[in-house]
Amino acid sequence: MPSLPTLANLIDGAAVAPRSGVWLDVHEPATGAVFARCPASDARDVDAAVAAAQRAAPGWAATPAETRARLLHRLADLVERELDALARLESRDSGKPVALAHSLDIPRAVANLRFFASAITQWASEAHAMDGHALNYTLRQPLGVVACISPWNLPLYLFTWKIAPALAAGNAVVAKPSEITPCTAARLGELAVEAGLPPGVLNIVHGQGPQVGQALVEHAGVKAVSFTGSTKTGAAIAAAAAPHFKKLSLELGGKNPAIVFADADLSDANLDTIVRSGFANQGEICLCGSRLLVQRSIYDAFKQRYLARVRALRVGDPEDAASDLGALVSQAHFDKVTGCIAQARAEGGRVLCGGEAVRLDGRCADGWFVAPTVLEGLPNDAVTNQTEIFGPVVSLIPFDGEDEALALANGTGYGLAASLWTSNLERAHRLSARLEFGIVWINCWLLRDLRTPFGGVKNSGLGREGGVEALRFFTEPKNICLRLS
Ligand code: NDP
Repeated sequence: MPSLPTLANLIDGAAVAPRSGVWLDVHEPATGAVFARCPASDARDVDAAVAAAQRAAPGWAATPAETRARLLHRLADLVERELDALARLESRDSGKPVALAHSLDIPRAVANLRFFASAITQWASEAHAMDGHALNYTLRQPLGVVACISPWNLPLYLFTWKIAPALAAGNAVVAKPSEITPCTAARLGELAVEAGLPPGVLNIVHGQGPQVGQALVEHAGVKAVSFTGSTKTGAAIAAAAAPHFKKLSLELGGKNPAIVFADADLSDANLDTIVRSGFANQGEICLCGSRLLVQRSIYDAFKQRYLARVRALRVGDPEDAASDLGALVSQAHFDKVTGCIAQARAEGGRVLCGGEAVRLDGRCADGWFVAPTVLEGLPNDAVTNQTEIFGPVVSLIPFDGEDEALALANGTGYGLAASLWTSNLERAHRLSARLEFGIVWINCWLLRDLRTPFGGVKNSGLGREGGVEALRFFTEPKNICLRLS
């Protein structure tokens, strides 16, 4: 058997093995087979990476923004050059269709790098004049060494969403991708060296959360932690970081509602978007609408059209361009999602379509595929409607009027994103103001402008990413007051 590709950490500009000498298996979700090995790093690797970052930080902070931007654009060029290969790698690592990685994940990684490269050259800070008596101005200085910790669902997309603003703002970064999907981050590290990023400016330490993530969060040399992942891990990170007064940005889970009013324009294109909002990336997007609230007067008619579309979704080999859904990311996640479907049945939910694993033939016979599943008959306070499943499972819930829709939508512990489908402009604005979510989409979903604030309320997180919010997070404001008279 040929030896498996073996990933390395990136520390001080060099590819290095983990101090432990231990490696983790990386699985291909579509086949269940191991296809690569990833370092099982520990606190010793984190120490080395933070030390390298500390050495690099002053020089990088003093590098003109134009130069930092040029290097990030060069890195974006290299990612763009490898679009096809990176899309295939992302798909192989995560189970998502190659077509999705090719149209969404990798282009978005390029866009993240370019956006923050440009943004830093356009950024300005404030001045506050005191009627000729004094002048205040604010310096925005990089923090030093920051940690970026990202999850497995949109691997390179979210990894670059964090490291791009951190680097653009002049920080040295120690980043930890999910060890479940480490491959594209590892390749990005190699491309960063090729792009000419100085050694130590970007360090990538692979490994498991409790060993690498926790060590990073607790490390005295790390000034801020930008984390995207589950609410449970977010709470652990907040607890570990609090005694050190570190800056924290936490982008966590969601249980998002899509709210469909009888007056919505339910054109085929809009219905397709509503279906996509539940099932894109196998439902493994924090922004997916897993609770579909539908006004009772159109409930039955809507349900029939919706189900016809969901039933037509093809679950298949991620390499097949005809596949709409690929495999779930891991055996553990497959078990979790199928367990949630069993629980939905146990608490009285009716399965309208899907509801089981999909067994494929050929090379994907041992893959972790689940059929797109639609449930109904569960109250909003059912476990199924309160817990983040993070898979291809949508629960239909009828409502009568606006107040009930609002109460149902707001009736979870999460508050990441809501989408609202209505032709009534007044209602759209009225409800948007009262929805307890960080993001509201009206008659659309996942329409993203990278300048806008991104993040959730309640158990969905703390702080905002995107645009100047990210640049603010990755810098420390210092007010300087000059007396004039
Ligand atoms: P996890 O919280 O399990 O892991 C996220 C990252 O944190 C991984 O790199 C993980 O490493 C690491 N980690 C785990 N434990 C610790 C720890 N104690 N200290 C520091 N780091 C740790 O999330 P998943 O990877 O399962 O991702 C899915 C979750 O991410 C969902 O809840 C989803 O909603 C959320 N998410 C939120 C988004 C948002 O923008 N709000 C966007 C995308 C996803 P390891 O892989 O080794 O466990």
